[in-house]
Amino acid sequence: MSIALESALPHARDHRDDDLQDLFTLLRQPSISAQNIGVQECAALEEALLQDAGFTTRRLTAPGHPVILGEWLEAPGKPTVLFYGHYDVQPPDPLDLWLSDPFTPTVRDGRIYARGVADNKAQHFSHIAAVRHWLRANGSLPCNVKIMLEGEEEVGSPHLDTVVAANKELLAADLVYTSDGPVTDDRYPEIVFGVRGDLYVELFATGANRDLHSGHWGGVAPNPILALARLLTTMIDKQNHVTIEGFYDNVRQPTPGALAAIEKLPFDTAATIAGIGLTEMVPPTERSYAERVMFQPTLSPAGIIGGYTGPGSKTVLPAKASMKIDMRLVPDQTPDEIFAKVRAHVERYGEGITIERSDGGMLPSFTPVEHPLGDVVRAALRAGFGAEPVSVPSAGGSLPDSVWTQTLGLPSFLVPYGAPEQANHSPNESYRVERLWQGIETSIHLLDLLGDASYLEM
Ligand SMILES: [Zn+2]
Repeated sequence: MSIALESALPHARDHRDDDLQDLFTLLRQPSISAQNIGVQECAALEEALLQDAGFTTRRLTAPGHPVILGEWLEAPGKPTVLFYGHYDVQPPDPLDLWLSDPFTPTVRDGRIYARGVADNKAQHFSHIAAVRHWLRANGSLPCNVKIMLEGEEEVGSPHLDTVVAANKELLAADLVYTSDGPVTDDRYPEIVFGVRGDLYVELFATGANRDLHSGHWGGVAPNPILALARLLTTMIDKQNHVTIEGFYDNVRQPTPGALAAIEKLPFDTAATIAGIGLTEMVPPTERSYAERVMFQPTLSPAGIIGGYTGPGSKTVLPAKASMKIDMRLVPDQTPDEIFAKVRAHVERYGEGITIERSDGGMLPSFTPVEHPLGDVVRAALRAGFGAEPVSVPSAGGSLPDSVWTQTLGLPSFLVPYGAPEQANHSPNESYRVERLWQGIETSIHLLDLLGDASYLEM
């Protein structure tokens, strides 16, 4: 343990009341991005907090709510960590289900109850507090620190990629570190190394110029629902293998390290499947649940609309039908590439069927579990939480994490400090006080470990 670490940790432990009061100041300020309530005021509070901790601050030019960058860059030759967080929160509704006011932080049974405490104010506050304790105890940091806080995460981060792409030099770093969301298993701290991307499309089939009497026209006029069903079965086979030409061309196989990490996950597949009322997974069963969710792309019809679905019967031959399809993408697939392949397939096999892209889609993101900085993050978590961390090679879902790995070209580590039961987005959102202290100490250990010269030969 370095001498500086030996003074930073006790400083944190001796000033927990100050940390709690400063976090409460953030929590008392509503910052509801969806309704533009209090967002500017919260941005100003964050700037003041960063300055008080020892950062210089600036606002990045951005079209939406303020994006704040805090910087402490006085450790030449040392690595730079870029922390990312968000200060906006979800609307607190329904208000009558809250046991205490969502913007009056209240501690009950060792938990802080407030809207936005877990998602994400206490989590990014942990990084700010770590820097503050270190600077107050030692005067300077062992590595360089940047922290970027945005105010639009809860409305889907619509400008994040634009802001990051326009500020590559200001955001230059050696790694990106994001504490958000809960861990999967309360017993173990967790590092998530990637996310799947996604692509959402809608298919439209048309038949006659109006709905028809099925007795007069059935079997004679085209049925758009049948056309969609037939097209769908040309896209995916009984083994759930996507049969669109080139769909798997850019799929990167999991590394040996990723497969080994999957083996070690404390995850009970049989119990999880039983929990949704099933006894087995659909094919291909030779790959594990985790490997499929992390490293296999999917094509899944999300909904189909057409014809008559009301009570009783109506003998109708519909004039049109539509179907929505979602796809989860893995490295190195891209939404643009996959959309082009799906469109070519529809043009070839879906006569008269048109396709539209529902949104831009999201790129997958990937940092190898073998990355040397992953060992640094693991060591920080082990020290801060007192338990061996699990490495999750990829989350099944999608987040805009590619802004770090692709736009900035950096390794990105998602390191949730929160617990599974914290009720993000729900009434009575909460955060365990103990996890606040563990998160602050983990961030302090991270600064120490990044400052260790042995990690510079990467
Ligand atoms: Zn959220």
